[in-house]
Amino acid sequence: MALPGSCPAAGGSSVCGRPDKGIRMAEKAEIAIDRISMVYTLPDSEVHALNDVSLDIGKGEILSVLGPSGCGKTTLLNIIAGFLSPTRGEVRIAGTPVKGPGAERGMVFQQGALFEWLSVAQNISFGPRMCGRNRKETVDTVQRLLGIVGLVEFADKPVYQLSGGMQQRVALARCLANDPDVILMDEPLGALDALTREKMQGLVLRLWKETGKTILLITHSVEEAIFLGERLIVMAPRPGRIEREFNLPFATEALEKPARDVKAGSEFVSVREEILSMIWDMEEEIMGDNG
Ligand code: ADP
Ligand code: MG
Repeated sequence: MALPGSCPAAGGSSVCGRPDKGIRMAEKAEIAIDRISMVYTLPDSEVHALNDVSLDIGKGEILSVLGPSGCGKTTLLNIIAGFLSPTRGEVRIAGTPVKGPGAERGMVFQQGALFEWLSVAQNISFGPRMCGRNRKETVDTVQRLLGIVGLVEFADKPVYQLSGGMQQRVALARCLANDPDVILMDEPLGALDALTREKMQGLVLRLWKETGKTILLITHSVEEAIFLGERLIVMAPRPGRIEREFNLPFATEALEKPARDVKAGSEFVSVREEILSMIWDMEEEIMGDNG
């Protein structure tokens, strides 16, 4: 089932209107991160959270960002979202400089960003209602999204009665209801148990496939970053910067194959080990500095 108002009309589609890589490469970057630096000024010190970070993210790309705690992942996401202004540099969305938050960028947080006193359906319809969208259209959109995230029978339940995994499905649906071009996710599955997390990874991939949205996903989990990222950025701390970049086939493979098979494949395992040891070395260095 296609999601509401979402599939790009570009030709050369592989699945559900998602342009194939050749066409995507020719397009202007959806997100252009242009020489961003961020320094937090504290009363007695400065924190160089990001130093000269540049990155282009293509339309319809799913990109994961991985790195040890404190390497500036959330800072980077907040700058793209327009919640923070960088000390230097600029972010452009489809060529337009970011000056603040905008409806074309949707956010999904780790947890706690839902309106607990509202029902599932009211949470999902919140954005469209605030924008004064047509009531019938909004009801239809909510119904479709409830179906996609598997929560039709929970439409009228208050969200505090749902499990963590279900709440994150509401958060995804609420984000999609605003039909953003770009979805920014900060550790969206970080608070879930392992099995729920795996299921949710499948849902993220399905949404990516069905909507053709540009997705930037921050995660602490090496396996998740490798699995979900068509491209994976590894960041390093002090100052926060991009250390390595990987182009990976697994997100695309997982559209056709069971997730467990993809994750058990020899290529997946070898990339995982390489990145794990890279992150491990960074963590050791940080611990060493603090020890
Ligand atoms: P990550 O998400 O990768 O863990 P953050 O972007 O949250 O990293 O933080 C990067 C660095 O900036 C850390 O050293 C953190 O302590 C610091 N930092 C983040 N937010 C602030 C803030 N509002 N004021 C001061 N320092 C901050
Ligand atoms: Mg963070």
